[in-house]
Amino acid sequence: MPARVASAKGPERLRLLMGGKWSDSESQDLHAVFNPAEGRTIAAVPFSTKEEVSQAVSAADDAFASWSSMPITDRIQFLFRMKEVLESHAQELATLNTENHGKTLEESRGDVRRTIENVESAISIAYTLAKGTSLDEISPGIDELMVREPLGVFAIVCPFNFPIMIPFWFLPYALVLGDTVVVKPSEITPVPMQKVAELLQEEVKLPPGVLNLVHGGSEVVETLIGLPATKGVTFVGSTAVARRVYRLAGENGKRAMVNGGAKNSIVVMPDADMSRSIPSIVSSFFGNTGQRCLAGANLVSVGGDKELLNKFSKASSSLQIGNGLSPTTEMGPMVTMAAKERVRSYVQKGIDEGGRLVVDGRHATVEEYPEGFYLGSTIFDEVSPSMSIARDEVFGPLASVLHVETLEEALDLVNRGTNYGNMASIFTTSGRAAREFKRRANAGNIGINIGVAAPSAFYPFGGTKDSFFGILHPQADTVDFFTDKKVILSRW
Ligand code: NAD
Repeated sequence: MPARVASAKGPERLRLLMGGKWSDSESQDLHAVFNPAEGRTIAAVPFSTKEEVSQAVSAADDAFASWSSMPITDRIQFLFRMKEVLESHAQELATLNTENHGKTLEESRGDVRRTIENVESAISIAYTLAKGTSLDEISPGIDELMVREPLGVFAIVCPFNFPIMIPFWFLPYALVLGDTVVVKPSEITPVPMQKVAELLQEEVKLPPGVLNLVHGGSEVVETLIGLPATKGVTFVGSTAVARRVYRLAGENGKRAMVNGGAKNSIVVMPDADMSRSIPSIVSSFFGNTGQRCLAGANLVSVGGDKELLNKFSKASSSLQIGNGLSPTTEMGPMVTMAAKERVRSYVQKGIDEGGRLVVDGRHATVEEYPEGFYLGSTIFDEVSPSMSIARDEVFGPLASVLHVETLEEALDLVNRGTNYGNMASIFTTSGRAAREFKRRANAGNIGINIGVAAPSAFYPFGGTKDSFFGILHPQADTVDFFTDKKVILSRW
């Protein structure tokens, strides 16, 4: 959790959006928001009071009647405007994303592009999948019809690592299908979504109450889920919190779509084309400074010689670390000092548990920014499956290299080495190995010669084991989550 700040004076104090109006929170519970590249406070985020959360949900509930009865073709027009507005502000949003999160500007531009793709996908869904079905003459003189109906208010609870993109795994779909939303960004990176909400309110001109924004942590999430008008919650975050949110939703009779943590394995076969594979593998482990739920964490080398480790280490240790806003930076800082310390503590565990530290990024510094939360890429070789660095989600630039002799053993590590099942990738030139892997690896997203197997917006973002709780998935799958099905039998 970010450090508390003493008073509202100083950096920008973030606001709440309720019923189309921006307001200052009454809360005195203020937390510092950082620019991690400089280690400098850039905003103060107030943790909304229970009354404010309740007001936001009521505003969304009040807006639901007219929003849901608006023809879908009119709601779609808001999404076309949304696409236009996001595109025209793409550079500004990417910059804010980098300033608050730390990732490189190129990575932030990718996030904004994926954000817009989700708006496009939601538009396409509204024209196609939002339709019902009908069957005439199901019985003599009787016709049967199924229509989809929106449900009401949904809470969208977000993690820190994709401050704009992850809310858009849900937001455009919910809105176009006729629901209204209350978004709760991560308290660590709330600045970019605050700007997006301003744009959606002021430039897209969403009707008041269709989109609401509150800030805070666990108490705000509990309140959101507990309020009777909230019909469901989408959550993306760590597994410990995911479990809690899924349980709370169940206890309160709410729909829930809950994505948890990850510990992804990248399997490299001896026949892999090294020159094509290495850049993709390096980007998987160290892109976003390893703070990505589709990041590589365990590198499983099958029957390999030293070539893989040598090339991987060489390419990783030469990554240019720095402020994400600088065009020469290849890896930005960690998001907080606490996150940096967590990774450092895992490096120590790796050493204590007998891993061989071959690249040590613990002491990386950037001269111009001595206060920044920097870490360099770190690689352990000779990691055994029982070590903490092979099992736990570290969520930073730390790679564990494990050696096995066969694909069978590699699949065993992928499937039983960790409790997570977000992504698994294989690098190979053998179609047979790739097919075997695709069929047997237990993960929601599979990469074949792809280091970050991120599904496009018109595919579901899956996960298995402790990486996902629920049935329906983010992005295109949300059409069934955000609507209910009503069946009508008629005889005239
Ligand atoms: P987090 O679990 O700490 O926080 C996520 C959200 O939950 C935040 O909005 C936070 O305010 C809220 N929260 C925190 N504690 C809570 C509690 N006790 N009760 C209710 N709500 C609470 O996650 P994070 O550190 O922001 O994000 C990183 C994690 O997210 C990693 O584990 C990563 O793997 C995961 N992630 C998963 C996916 C996926 O698709 N599976 C995508 C992105 C990130």
